[in-house]
Amino acid sequence: MTTRIPHWIHGAPAAGRSGRTSPVFDPATGERTAEVDLADADEVAAAVADAKAAARAWRSASLSKRSAVLFAFRELLHANADELARTITAEHGKVLSDAHGEVARGLENVEFACGVPELVKGGFSEQAATDVDVYSIRQPLGVVAGITPFNFPAMVPLWMAANAIACGNAFVLKPSEKDPSASLLLADLWRRAGLPDGVFTVLQGDKVAVDALLAHPDVAAVSFVGSTPVARSIYETGTRHGKRVQALGGAKNHMVVLPDADVDLAADAAVSAGYGAAGERCMAVSVVVAVGDIGDRLVEAIAARLPKLRIGAGADPDSEMGPLISAEHRDRVASYVGAGADAGARVVVDGRTAEVPAGGFFLGATLLDRVTPDMTVYTDEIFGPVLCVVRTDTYDGALDLVNANRYANGTAIFTRDGGAARRFQFDVEVGMVGVNVPIPVPVAYYSFGGWKASLFGDTHMYGPEGVTFYTRGKVVTSRWPDPATSTVDLGFPTTR
Ligand code: NAD
Repeated sequence: MTTRIPHWIHGAPAAGRSGRTSPVFDPATGERTAEVDLADADEVAAAVADAKAAARAWRSASLSKRSAVLFAFRELLHANADELARTITAEHGKVLSDAHGEVARGLENVEFACGVPELVKGGFSEQAATDVDVYSIRQPLGVVAGITPFNFPAMVPLWMAANAIACGNAFVLKPSEKDPSASLLLADLWRRAGLPDGVFTVLQGDKVAVDALLAHPDVAAVSFVGSTPVARSIYETGTRHGKRVQALGGAKNHMVVLPDADVDLAADAAVSAGYGAAGERCMAVSVVVAVGDIGDRLVEAIAARLPKLRIGAGADPDSEMGPLISAEHRDRVASYVGAGADAGARVVVDGRTAEVPAGGFFLGATLLDRVTPDMTVYTDEIFGPVLCVVRTDTYDGALDLVNANRYANGTAIFTRDGGAARRFQFDVEVGMVGVNVPIPVPVAYYSFGGWKASLFGDTHMYGPEGVTFYTRGKVVTSRWPDPATSTVDLGFPTTR
């Protein structure tokens, strides 16, 4: 019997009715471990109707009640972090320590949302006009949907759901069909935390479910994280249907290393950020820009580290880098190494020939030097353990390279020169910047988001901008006049 992974509707698992499923694999062995249900438009409509009814009641729950549920969910998430991490590793393949890191960063978003009474506070102006007060309120939108990628099956749903639910919405999650089980664990924790049925829904599915959510009149807003072509299409389709949309896309993150940087520190950072999670992070460093005469020393230092990386099953505590998500993706990543070599890049370390465990979707770490901006290894998001080194003579050359790239998710500069770092932070056209920090994912009380083809929409995700996204403002102008003073006045109201 194959394990069947269901939806989660009205506080309980719900078997799919569409008859369509998608296989789920253990990337470390290549074995097919389960089938996940794929929702059709009717199942989407039924789940949204349930969420709509739940949203109506949930928005009436007091702020302290909502906050109490968030606190309870935080405790449960913390207590069940091991199980969640193991579930992530079993379907995604990332090593356990990385899966724990993902849960920890997701937890931060829940902790932020615990402060919802403070987050949705409005403003109040007494005596805005004579005997007139004006105040602002932030109200939930109703039913909001989240469509999430395979690479963070717990953290990205938490980026969205924590604030959406805290603000009084019902949240419908459409997780990646490649690693769907973490979503069900989260759903069960929400239930145990006391969240009313229907406020957190999981609809497993693919494009069919996404299209139905995008067209559904009762879905008020859509948060999306995934690849750029899909992000763009979600943004265009969702806004055409009158929804609020924030759609985060792909990335090509540059790490600029100035000639004065500490070579070992920069090499450690490049290897950690380039090959962690086998490069399947939207904030992974995929391009190292070596400025001036540091190039040879830096390439040598990175190359020296690669044979020492322990590649193996994510569940093995000794492994540092796990497999890729699928056989197709592994082959696609490997084909880029060949394309880079054909285009004239120097293959310093070739991951295709590395010794890796048999059976799973493994690929060794690759280092390509003397990559130029016209090569596909530079222009495309590879999303695998392939690090490209581009060389430039000057700081300005490095800055121009970063700013000319169509992606603008994250970037980092490595230097000991504070003035140069300050200048980079000022000039670079990228949403998230690290100064001697290779993966500058903002803490939960800031917001996460890139620029250009890395984000469609105008609000970043989580943090204060997440609260703005999941609420709409209302301004009330109020007075309590003495009826005896009432007159007809056709003039336009002024405040003086
Ligand atoms: P993906 O775009 O293939 O899928 C993302 C989600 O969209 C999934 O739920 C999937 O089922 C759905 N989907 C896929 N194709 C669709 C279509 N044609 N129409 C409607 N829905 C569709 O992305 P992925 O492979 O799961 O994730 C990797 C990508 O996500 C990378 O490009 C990575 O950079 C990006 N990512 C970005 C961020 C960020 O914050 N900017 C974070 C994580 C991942």
